[in-house]
Amino acid sequence: MRPVDTLFINGPILTQGPAGLIDPGLLAVRQGRIAAVGAYHPGDEAAFAAAETIDLSRRRHLLMPGLVNAHTHAAMTLFRGLADDLPLMDWLTHYIFPVEKNLTREWVFWGTQLACLEMIASGTTTFCDMYLFEQAAAEATAEAGLRAILGEVLYDFPSPNYGPPEAGLRYSRDLIARWRGHPRLSIAVEPHAPYTCSAGLLRQCARLAEDEDVLLVIHLAETAHEDASVRQQHGLSPVRYLESLDLLSPRLLADHAIHLDDDDIGRLATHDVAIAHNPESNMKLASGTAPLPALLAAGLRVGLGTDGCASNNNLDLFQEMDAAAKLQKVMRLDPTALPAGTALELATRRGAAALRLGEVCGTLEVGKAADLILLDFDQPHLTPVYDYPSHLVYAARGADVTDTMVDGQWLLRDRAFTTLDAGRIIAEVRRISQDIRNLVRPGHGA
Ligand SMILES: [Zn+2]
Repeated sequence: MRPVDTLFINGPILTQGPAGLIDPGLLAVRQGRIAAVGAYHPGDEAAFAAAETIDLSRRRHLLMPGLVNAHTHAAMTLFRGLADDLPLMDWLTHYIFPVEKNLTREWVFWGTQLACLEMIASGTTTFCDMYLFEQAAAEATAEAGLRAILGEVLYDFPSPNYGPPEAGLRYSRDLIARWRGHPRLSIAVEPHAPYTCSAGLLRQCARLAEDEDVLLVIHLAETAHEDASVRQQHGLSPVRYLESLDLLSPRLLADHAIHLDDDDIGRLATHDVAIAHNPESNMKLASGTAPLPALLAAGLRVGLGTDGCASNNNLDLFQEMDAAAKLQKVMRLDPTALPAGTALELATRRGAAALRLGEVCGTLEVGKAADLILLDFDQPHLTPVYDYPSHLVYAARGADVTDTMVDGQWLLRDRAFTTLDAGRIIAEVRRISQDIRNLVRPGHGA
């Protein structure tokens, strides 16, 4: 008998890999990795000595890979609903900037843990983060047990974390060294955007990412205003401007990538740049619609992101898949523009590839990490079932996830958190929100 830690039997397994849907299937986890996956025949479990066996048929569970959030600012959960429906500059100047100026590592720690709770509960197992005080974000995420790529946001202004701009690269280098070798966390170099970073800083960021062999992450071509200002200053589109600085490479992850012409898309494809697509944020901030079908047709690695909770306002990737598919359909007046199966790939296999984690997660295959989730399909809104991807994109929601595992470790069991103290985290964030309220509306209360 083969010794394994967890054995799933007798239910649908959506692998998102070459095996597709296996129903009924069997999947075995040993020492954090997938040790076996295939068809299930009654009695097959006798071949394994499992510490724990889960019969998927008992509660009509679907087993699938954990979702990948390719772009977020986790600690911005602190600002969820603080100010909505405003012009971008008004929103930034009167709400986000005054609050972020007062940001502390303690706020980022609790805001990130709140984000981790939400991601674990809604089936996200990997995320790519950009924010301030990322050492605190990394500590918060390590405790949660999620897989993540994290990076300190770098720009030409002083930071409430590292101080003067020139200290940002040193901070990033220290962060990379501190977390190197961690089983689930790694650090990226993350300049904010072409319009907030000098050419010198952008070049230095690219060199640091190259030297340290880590991901380089940047917001790119997000708004028409960015496109116009980069063209005015440098005489090039944002994509061509980054190309002129040698930033385009397979290690670059470009967040948003909305305002692109055919030439830009061709250059992104030539350099094998990865894209994080954030449809709900793009709609809420009225940034525009990314040319997703063209990006996919060009062979680009594209993942799906929620962006921060101030511009979404949640971290539920099931809603994000639904929005991604419907936005393309209505923009192009074409119901075939983005099928459910492709939207699901963005949040699983393609998202992992965009983060250069394609060998690690994103599908359920032997040898990959046991990053997986269970969904309760014994519910009215998921009945009947003809096609799982259709339900996952158009009918399911994060709240349908009952169990979440990363690296073979349960983070959520039957909707109960196993690594984090949800009551404490929510109480800390409620306390912090009082201070935030006072910063944006001095003397007004709420
Ligand atoms: Zn962003």
